[in-house]
Amino acid sequence: MTIKLASELQPDSVVDGTGIRTVIWTQGCSHDCPGCHNPGTHDFNGGFEVDTDEVIEEIKGLEGQTGITFSGGDPFFQPEACAILAEAIHKCKMNVWCYTGFTFEELLKLCDTNKAVMDFLKEIDVLVDGRFVMALKSLNIKFRGSSNQRIIDVPKSLKAKKVIIFMSDDIDVDYNFGRYEKKGIYI
Ligand code: SF4
Repeated sequence: MTIKLASELQPDSVVDGTGIRTVIWTQGCSHDCPGCHNPGTHDFNGGFEVDTDEVIEEIKGLEGQTGITFSGGDPFFQPEACAILAEAIHKCKMNVWCYTGFTFEELLKLCDTNKAVMDFLKEIDVLVDGRFVMALKSLNIKFRGSSNQRIIDVPKSLKAKKVIIFMSDDIDVDYNFGRYEKKGIYI
C-alpha cells in the first residue's frame, strides 16, 4: 500500500527519541496547534506518495540506527501504512517511537472504529502524545515540545490500560520538570 510522506527519510537524528534515529516524516495533520514548528506537513494533499515496500527496502539498508521515529504531520492519520512499516522496523531489530497530536486516551477511543489504530499502537515502543501547546513550551524538556506532552511506554500502557510513562536514563531530566510521580504513572 502507499503512504504519504512530507520528505525523504532523515537518518542520524539525536533529538527525536533516545539513541541515533531515523525519522519518517508523514504528511497530513488537522490538529492545527498554534505555533506548530512544521506547518508544511499539515496539508493532506501535500507531500508525495510512496509504496510502503519501497520505504521498507530503505529501512533495511539503514546502518547504525537505534530506531525509527514516526513524526509529521500526524502519523495516526495513516495508521494502516504506519503499522506495516513499524512491523518491518521491529523485524530489523530497531525500536519504534511515534509523535502524535492525539492523546493516548483519544487513540484508544479511535480503536473502537478503526482497527488499524490498534495495529499501529501495538507496534510502537514509545509514544510522545498530545497537541503542542505554546504556553507550555519549554527548552528544559527533552524530546517534547510542550510539557503537556507525555513520553509513554506503549506496551506497558496497553497492558495496564492506563498511561505508564517511559523511563530511561536518557530522559531522567524530564521528570524534574514534568508532572509525573515517582512510579512513572501520569497524574
Ligand atoms: S500535532 Fe504536531 S504537526 Fe500537527 S499541528 Fe500539532 S504540532 Fe503541528
